[in-house]
Amino acid sequence: MTATTTTVLKNFIKGAWVEAKTEKFETVPNPATGEALARVPLSTREDLVSAVRVAKEAYKTWSKTPVPKRSRILFKYQQLLVEHWDELAKLITQENGKSFKEAYGEVQRGIECVEFAAGAPSLMMGRQLPDIATDMESGMYRYPVGVVGGITPFNFPMMVPCWMFPLAIACGNTFILKPSERTPILANRLAELFKEAGLPDGVLNVVHGAHDVVNGLLEHKDVQAISFVGSQPVAEYIYKTAAANGKRVQALAGAKNHTIVMPDADLETAVKEIIGAAYGSAGERCMACSVVVAVGDVAEPLIQKLNAKADEIIIGNGLDENVFLGPVIREENKKRTANYIEIGEQEGATLIRDGRKDQAYHENGYFIGPTIFDHVQPSMRIWKEEIFAPVLSIVRVDSLEEAVELTNQSDFGNGSCLFTQSGSAVRYFRENIEVGMLGVNIGVPAPMAFFPFSGWKNSFYGDLHANGPDGVEFYTRRKMLTARW
Ligand code: NAD
Repeated sequence: MTATTTTVLKNFIKGAWVEAKTEKFETVPNPATGEALARVPLSTREDLVSAVRVAKEAYKTWSKTPVPKRSRILFKYQQLLVEHWDELAKLITQENGKSFKEAYGEVQRGIECVEFAAGAPSLMMGRQLPDIATDMESGMYRYPVGVVGGITPFNFPMMVPCWMFPLAIACGNTFILKPSERTPILANRLAELFKEAGLPDGVLNVVHGAHDVVNGLLEHKDVQAISFVGSQPVAEYIYKTAAANGKRVQALAGAKNHTIVMPDADLETAVKEIIGAAYGSAGERCMACSVVVAVGDVAEPLIQKLNAKADEIIIGNGLDENVFLGPVIREENKKRTANYIEIGEQEGATLIRDGRKDQAYHENGYFIGPTIFDHVQPSMRIWKEEIFAPVLSIVRVDSLEEAVELTNQSDFGNGSCLFTQSGSAVRYFRENIEVGMLGVNIGVPAPMAFFPFSGWKNSFYGDLHANGPDGVEFYTRRKMLTARW
């Protein structure tokens, strides 16, 4: 298929497919083959403004729709997503490149968000105190906030949008999703299935594009709240701009996640989990393990086993059975990764496994094999910066205290894991690490939908995190009633 014959994606506004009023399009390739899958419009402000108008109108009735009725549509949506599980996972693999198994797991994570949101009648309940004084009562009631904008990254085309729109909509808001222009296809299917589940037109709208649409959302007076997930510089920009324009904002950002391995760790488990966390989804996860901190004499056997396991990894098209490591998202990300490998070498780290030497590196897709650097130092760029690719850095330290101190030097604070058999080590880790999502003897400690996704430091800008009770707070506002009868 060539770019000229490929499907041109449309925006989804008021329940219908609408052509963007733009001259600008980008080709969406399958990263495993380089073949064009679709062309995505870079919509204009005008496109965005018409979507906001529709969402504002739809809010009038949706916000007054009884909560159990809204909830029933979410139950139906959940059923449809389950019925289309394979199809959705395949779409994810095609546009993102991750293996089908991982894509299948991602669909599950998305469905779990819908399941959580379907509990809206309980989640939205207020609180009352019948006697705040003689004959006086007081109550807190919960209401939606209005039109909400969601801006999402390429690495989880289903899970991340599902952190946002199902809960926002269940709480009575209307929504405009601006999916990543690098993975825009699945978003259209998610919107289409929600309509099939009975969602009234205009409640969920999808506007494709890049910064013009984003800036339109940030500046539009009728958009009340912004949920963002993406890289750190953009998250900071979104947070500052949205706040300056009087909107509530939650902006989830980049990461550099450290996994500490103690000498008493079960090495088989640690190696299996680290390989999954470092190279799963080609390292393109905000919860990827990008640094291993080896404590004491665990370093030698750990590195030897990691290297051996990395050699066993099958690289290729994620739709092929047994493939574990798919491509990175674009040719430029592959080049950027190769550049980081050169930087690491120049900085003096020891390159013990070079992903540029794997056969797949020379194929058409954007493949780069598992890469390992030993003797990485905190002064190095490969330690400081988020590479977002299958590159693992190993730092050697002498104690848990040193490992925690090193981890805390990072500007990021998304996730961190500890492998040990010791309860007191776990307690020390939990109490002293400055990171929001912790794992003990597991590789990817991503919380489920009913808990908040809780990054710290430069991994998060805002007050209320995505998902769980934080998500409900973010997508609702409260009214206090004090009454004397
Ligand atoms: P990105 O920041 O490039 O893009 C995210 C979104 O912002 C996209 O929709 C994009 O169109 C938009 N955008 C990009 N540049 C912009 C600009 N200059 N002005 C306005 N809008 C802009 O991120 P990405 O590469 O798609 O995703 C990967 C990043 O997301 C990584 O840093 C990863 O750690 C992070 N991420 C974080 C979490 C988390 O929960 N903390 C989850 C997933 C991904």
